[in-house]
Amino acid sequence: MGKVLIIGAGGVGTVVAHKMAANPGIFTDIMLASRTKSKCDAIAEAVGGNKIKTAKVDANNVPELVKLIESFKPDIVVNVALPYQDLTIMEACLQTKTAYLDTANYEPENEAKFEYSWQWAYHERFKEAGITAILGCGFDPGVTSIYTAYAAKHHFDEIQYLDIVDCNAGDHGKAFATNFNPEINIREVTQKGKFWEDGQWKLTEPHEIHKPLNYPNIGPKESYLIYHEELESLVKNFPTLKRARFWMTFGQEYLTHLRVIQNIGMASIEPVVYEGKEIVPIQFLKAVLPNPGELGENYTGETSIGCRIRGMKDGKEKTYYIYNNCSHEVAYKETGAQGVSYTTGVPAMVGAMMYLKGLWKENGVFNVEEFNPDPFLKEVAEQGLPWIELHDVDLEL
Ligand code: NDP
Repeated sequence: MGKVLIIGAGGVGTVVAHKMAANPGIFTDIMLASRTKSKCDAIAEAVGGNKIKTAKVDANNVPELVKLIESFKPDIVVNVALPYQDLTIMEACLQTKTAYLDTANYEPENEAKFEYSWQWAYHERFKEAGITAILGCGFDPGVTSIYTAYAAKHHFDEIQYLDIVDCNAGDHGKAFATNFNPEINIREVTQKGKFWEDGQWKLTEPHEIHKPLNYPNIGPKESYLIYHEELESLVKNFPTLKRARFWMTFGQEYLTHLRVIQNIGMASIEPVVYEGKEIVPIQFLKAVLPNPGELGENYTGETSIGCRIRGMKDGKEKTYYIYNNCSHEVAYKETGAQGVSYTTGVPAMVGAMMYLKGLWKENGVFNVEEFNPDPFLKEVAEQGLPWIELHDVDLEL
């Protein structure tokens, strides 16, 4: 049905490549390109059957991207490199009139700040060029945003309170490791907390607000209010929301390591000169931490991510909880990657599938909650991420 170019050969790229190759009726021609070609080759070999072509590309370089896109001629580019590359890849898609999909919003490399403004600014140009950009199609952002759209469409007349709850109750056996790119992950979790309430953003100190929440099949876990990017688009696209928050579980051991890393300056993005060479501390830290893509082998336990929503239905207050639990071991057996890469890569593959099937195809730049959630949720359940709905339950929040 279509040709796809995947950019980025990390944990998420591994899952996207495996899942696309497992759906040959949709993805008829697959190319995996990244900065280090040997990583693409290793993934292609693990998938087997000569199903995946590989290439080297520097995704910071627009002419190089344009050349690759023009030679392979994909119908859609799936960006699972780093958020720093979003704008250059979007630019190359624009120049070649090719559809675009990603899983994380743009973040400048020299400033620990992420927001959609830079990517939303491409809307008119994508619209005029007659091409689609699908933003934030991982799990969170991604499936959580689509759960919200589904709830608003089918279960509520008005959604008012949204709490996205993200629990990783897995154990990788390492003293400290991050579940996706360490640089991006540490930048995300060390920033101030932020949530939407009564028409404005409210700021908190990092990890200032926390409480135990019960996760299905897992039990109580201390959960911390942090800022997460989908809140920005969800409050825009669902203006009835009076409050929107995001909670993530962290263990004490993880938080202690994080505090030490920050206190000794290793989370800094300011370059320092060491033995005559400029190095960025957080990039050096990434080089010595375990590679998230290789955590899978001994990873036990599961993730549980979902949306807890309160609102009005037929004049009465209603509560609703929709979630997925994903086992790290099952994810590893299927794709060779752990659950966090799996829960990101499967939705990215399904988003590209929605585009190729013509179900999510509009001219312009869109967040996933702006598309029809029904075909996506049906497919994502069949592709390995089934979801469960609970009605009129205690949301604890
Ligand atoms: P990794 O660090 O494992 O992989 C990133 C890949 O991008 C690597 O192969 C890297 O190449 C490649 N890359 C980096 N810079 C360039 C460049 N300039 N040109 C070409 N390739 C480049 O990250 P993950 O797989 O864990 O995460 C991928 C993306 O998924 C990130 O943007 C992350 O934020 C997002 N994500 C989204 C989630 C969601 O639920 N929405 C959850 C988890 C992650 P090299 O191998 O040479 O370093």
